Amino acid sequence: MTRRDQLLGALEIGPQWTRRQADLQADFAPMAQSPGAPIADQPASADRHTDADIAAMDWDALQAAVATCTRCDLCRSRTRTVFGSGDPKAAWLFVGEGPGRNEDQQGEPFVGPAGKLLDNMLAAMSLRRGRDVFITNIVKCRPTDATGKDRAPTPEEAAACRPYLQRQIALIQPQILVALGKVAAVTLLARDPGIAVSSLRGTVHRYGPLPLVVTYHPAYLLRALVDKRKAWEDLCLAMETRTIAAGAG
Ligand code: SF4
Repeated sequence: MTRRDQLLGALEIGPQWTRRQADLQADFAPMAQSPGAPIADQPASADRHTDADIAAMDWDALQAAVATCTRCDLCRSRTRTVFGSGDPKAAWLFVGEGPGRNEDQQGEPFVGPAGKLLDNMLAAMSLRRGRDVFITNIVKCRPTDATGKDRAPTPEEAAACRPYLQRQIALIQPQILVALGKVAAVTLLARDPGIAVSSLRGTVHRYGPLPLVVTYHPAYLLRALVDKRKAWEDLCLAMETRTIAAGAG
């Protein structure tokens, strides 16, 4: 048994590799819409940078700006901001929805069981954190409900945080984006929040000039084992897409 087979076994999925090269190239259709339009500029203050400020930042300035950001109310309840982690020149950019309790405490994205599953997914793709991979979220601060439980970020919170992600993408210059879950997918693609992830899978979307593949969030996959196989199909699509993108670059 190969290492990949062992890893896929750990994911409880079998290899579902099917060559879709012709289909894939056909999927590279012109982008239906641009990445989200800039939100109205926020008033500037020491910790409230304008969109234009953020768009001009280098990596260190961007990290510092996120660490003290007050652009939305999520700043009030966070323990730490979660900027993201990995290779700042990665070919692969994985985007989730937002930090949970563990991430908020540690300042790292995707820790705990969902993070372990994401690591297994990366390993099955012969990738690993910190090497040609950057992992971040739509919002950099933990959203919680009235009882203190994790919740999805609102569209307003996602819009407030979007300039940071846009600048991360501009600085990293990845070859491919992978949207993990619905919030990441609908935010990056500017789609109706009510749309199902299942209807966005299986297609190569565009984020500006970049290919974008949608798959399930690892936290969802922990609850829905039946969809792990579909997630592997999405990752195969992403690997084929990245190979084409790298060849065209
Ligand atoms: S979620 Fe984003 S916009 Fe809101 S306070 Fe945190 S870093 Fe700022």
